[in-house]
Amino acid sequence: MSQAETHHFQAEIQQLLNIVIHSLYTDKEIFIRELISNGADACEKLRFTQSSGKPVHQSEVAPAIAITTDDKAGTITITDTGLGMTHAELVENLGTIAHSGTKAFLKQLAEDKKADVGLIGQFGVGFYSAFMVAKKVTVLSRSFAPEEPGWQWTSEGMGGYEITPAADLPRGTKITLELKDDAKDFAQESTVERIIQRYSSFVPFPIELNTKRLNTVQAIWARNKNEIKEEEYNEFYTFIGHDHDQPLFRLHFSADAPLAIQALLFVPSRNFETLGMGRMDSEVNLYCRKILIQAKAKGLFPEWLRFLKGVVDSEDLPLNISRETMQDTSLMQKLNKVLTSRFLKFLDEQSVKEAAAYEKFYGEYQRFLKEGVVTDFTHKEALGKLLRYESSTLDAGKLTSLADYVSRMPSDQKEIYCLLAANRAAAEASPYFEVFKERKWEVLFLYDAWDEFVMEHLHTFDGKTLKLAEKADLNLSAKKEGALSEEASKSLTQWLKETLGDKVNNVRVSQRLVDSPAVVVDSDKFMTASMRRMMKAMKQDGPDLPPAKQDFEINPAHPIMARLDAMRLKDAALAGSVAEQILDNARVAAGLLEDPRAMLKRLDSLLEKVLTKE
Ligand code: ADP
Ligand code: MG
Repeated sequence: MSQAETHHFQAEIQQLLNIVIHSLYTDKEIFIRELISNGADACEKLRFTQSSGKPVHQSEVAPAIAITTDDKAGTITITDTGLGMTHAELVENLGTIAHSGTKAFLKQLAEDKKADVGLIGQFGVGFYSAFMVAKKVTVLSRSFAPEEPGWQWTSEGMGGYEITPAADLPRGTKITLELKDDAKDFAQESTVERIIQRYSSFVPFPIELNTKRLNTVQAIWARNKNEIKEEEYNEFYTFIGHDHDQPLFRLHFSADAPLAIQALLFVPSRNFETLGMGRMDSEVNLYCRKILIQAKAKGLFPEWLRFLKGVVDSEDLPLNISRETMQDTSLMQKLNKVLTSRFLKFLDEQSVKEAAAYEKFYGEYQRFLKEGVVTDFTHKEALGKLLRYESSTLDAGKLTSLADYVSRMPSDQKEIYCLLAANRAAAEASPYFEVFKERKWEVLFLYDAWDEFVMEHLHTFDGKTLKLAEKADLNLSAKKEGALSEEASKSLTQWLKETLGDKVNNVRVSQRLVDSPAVVVDSDKFMTASMRRMMKAMKQDGPDLPPAKQDFEINPAHPIMARLDAMRLKDAALAGSVAEQILDNARVAAGLLEDPRAMLKRLDSLLEKVLTKE
């Protein structure tokens, strides 16, 4: 049989080739990924065949892939020592669409009537992607089956292909591409090397480019973690993370249901965003059976986990998936959910098992977790478990979880309380803290204004409402012996309201003060002092906010109130000044006094009066 047989491509293949050949698109380089992945598949199948005990031609030759470039001839050749193809297999596999990847592409094309040819660029189209760059493709193949001869398959794309016998071939497949004029760059070693490093670094068979070994780092994520040494993990992290420090955390896991996943995730030792390097991008790459599908895969994790680095490999991903549609496929969402939940569970475990490391992690990355609470409803609860705060009953610098706080709650305490302050001393001196101190109830101290929003969004933890101390509806446990009678208090509050007029919304007797004479409380149920401050800061150039309406609460047990009550009958003007000063003092305590200059004038005249009395 020396004569060439001529074959026609199946109609669908002809249609596909039409698009491949006549469309220009950006991602031409993926043909290398596709041909290498076919070579790797063939090597894998050979291994399987060998292990099943079947006789194999040249069984001493190990499965491997070799690529050579010839820039003078303008060719690139991909050779594998895999299981090769028989005559029938060449016809079946390289002339029809009986195989997976190409079929998926054609299906998509049929569904998408507007079938923009640009679309093809987002697909790998398997073997046929070779025709994006080649004017002629030659395949030499010899099956593993000892009795099978070798064959040469050639095609210039359109019109079909020829098959002729080829003598003395080694086992496996050798594919040579005669590159089109505009694709000659793929005959350059440096170009090809870059592409292989990008897509095929972890292919589990040796890849040589012009006799130089390329893929030396193993896809350790696919191995059993008990067999992986610490140094191997570190080497791998350095390779994929481009970070010479050791990671803070590492999570290596695999799952079978609901999706087949192998993942190796790292938390870098430092938060690069705080180092002033701008917003980070997730550096988790998505693989399908060790072949890169998408670098820095968008949508694989929620935004607030963008500090993660690593690898996710899922067999359930079609290799030829479109990049654009990738982000919103339900498959991607499922992956996202499984991975995120698993990672949060891991952090929760670490917080117990590796408390010191977790504290360091929290120090670096708490902003991300809090961003998650505010933006990600799905994982809010799991994130709540990971938050840590200083608390009134713990030493300065010590942090507690909400769960531990809850475990310390007395049975009559129903809510979780938090207090925003500039620092611990300010929190402990705050009038809003007095009622808690008196009751010996624990309060979480928040030092970051955003934490108030975090608590608002979290809303509840373990079935208990999170309450800002300022908004807590609490009474002192014991009735305070009043310096003023109930009646006297009542007329004093009335007088205060008349005297202060529009400066306050309402004046009432406080049930929460011990040491302070008075306190202001925002009359808006949902507004706190710090929220007002933030809104003001954000609105700097805009129109003014409607003025804050504060309720003024007084402490009738405080000596100042008793004296004020006496003074208002003797010297109403002086008492009025003092009342205004007490209100301003309360505003200072709440961080709400906008212009202290008016207050200073008044204070000076009060001092003058005090001094002339003596
Ligand atoms: P897919 O890899 O998704 O099946 P391809 O178009 O890449 O689709 O390949 C088509 C088929 O051709 C493969 O399924 C395989 O049977 C065969 N094939 C391609 N390249 C090789 C190779 N190097 N060695 C053996 N068989 C191959
Ligand atoms: Mg393929």
